[in-house]
Amino acid sequence: MAGVYVHLPFCPYVCPYCDFAKWPHRRSAALRYLSALEAEIAAAPAFAAKTLFLGGGTPNVYPAADIARLVARLRTRFSLGSAAEVTIELNPDLSLCEEFAAYVEAGINRFSFGVQSFVDAELAALGRQHRGGEVVAAVDRARIAGVSNLSVDLMFGIPGQTVDSWKGSLAAALELEPHHVSTYGLTIEAGTPFSVWHAREPAAFPDADREAELFSVAIDRLEAAGFEHYEISNFARPGFRSHHNANYWANGPYLGLGVGAASYLDGTRSVHTRAIDAYCDAALGGSPIPGTSEHLEGAARIGEAAMLALRTSQGVDVASFAERYGIDFLRFYEPVLAEMSAAGVLEVNPAVVRLTRRGRFVANDVCAAFIAPA
Ligand code: SF4
Repeated sequence: MAGVYVHLPFCPYVCPYCDFAKWPHRRSAALRYLSALEAEIAAAPAFAAKTLFLGGGTPNVYPAADIARLVARLRTRFSLGSAAEVTIELNPDLSLCEEFAAYVEAGINRFSFGVQSFVDAELAALGRQHRGGEVVAAVDRARIAGVSNLSVDLMFGIPGQTVDSWKGSLAAALELEPHHVSTYGLTIEAGTPFSVWHAREPAAFPDADREAELFSVAIDRLEAAGFEHYEISNFARPGFRSHHNANYWANGPYLGLGVGAASYLDGTRSVHTRAIDAYCDAALGGSPIPGTSEHLEGAARIGEAAMLALRTSQGVDVASFAERYGIDFLRFYEPVLAEMSAAGVLEVNPAVVRLTRRGRFVANDVCAAFIAPA
């Protein structure tokens, strides 16, 4: 199982909390970038991929004809069959949602909408320009276009958000009958306008206890609606888990294309430069893309695999882990497992190790403890 991720970094506007590799959309820059991507695709190692994910940025700032041409090239290069999961991230701003039928025709079969909130004041606080009502219309358009796999992203921890407003956003999302919901806590990233705001006025942001409460509300509400909480930030109706992301969490191979994109192939993790001109110059000039790479071996590779598996509801399957990495997980991590089990954040039994409900609230800390084995 291998996935291909393509980063499309242009946005109609730049949100003040965002730390992704992104730039305000300019058609000339977006076209040059597309040419660079096509050059990178042509030079990439050919292999058979099972999933394709177009992320950003805001992929739908590109006209659908550009996206269709890109997908066609990727399909050929990576032997993507008609059964492959092909996802596109979408900004629900209605002015960017007029060409859904062309996406479907291009073979894109999973739409992931960056909704964040249905409360207009919260969207405004985030610097988002779409409004809650637009999301409903955008999802209608997607259904009319024939998309049968819909995901929505929601955010908690937004300044001004309350438990009631969060419940309202969850209810509005469920009314759309999505197949998949992702919920992310707002993170304050250094160097963003939000980090300046947070330093000046920390009380404007929900504290850790409030964030945990909001996350708990999401788990209860989505599980009650029939969603499986299959990864810390992700919920799916049965049969609708993201195959692309599941491959990441299974420590499977993936190729990232585009500025700032990460790959994991043959035990080597590499990340492309986040400098867009350096990326375009290298790709168009046929040179290696600048960036960093690191070969993960031994304890580092095992720790990475453990950390990823523990984020999922299946947790670590002890027998599979032994087969794949040649270690007895329970012995290798004995001290840390004893500590986490005593703290009530991990369920440890001979076949499986996974987060408890309490552990889901401190997942980052629990997972980090496995990066450097005790
Ligand atoms: S639309 Fe998404 S990628 Fe673009 S600036 Fe906003 S959060 Fe970042």
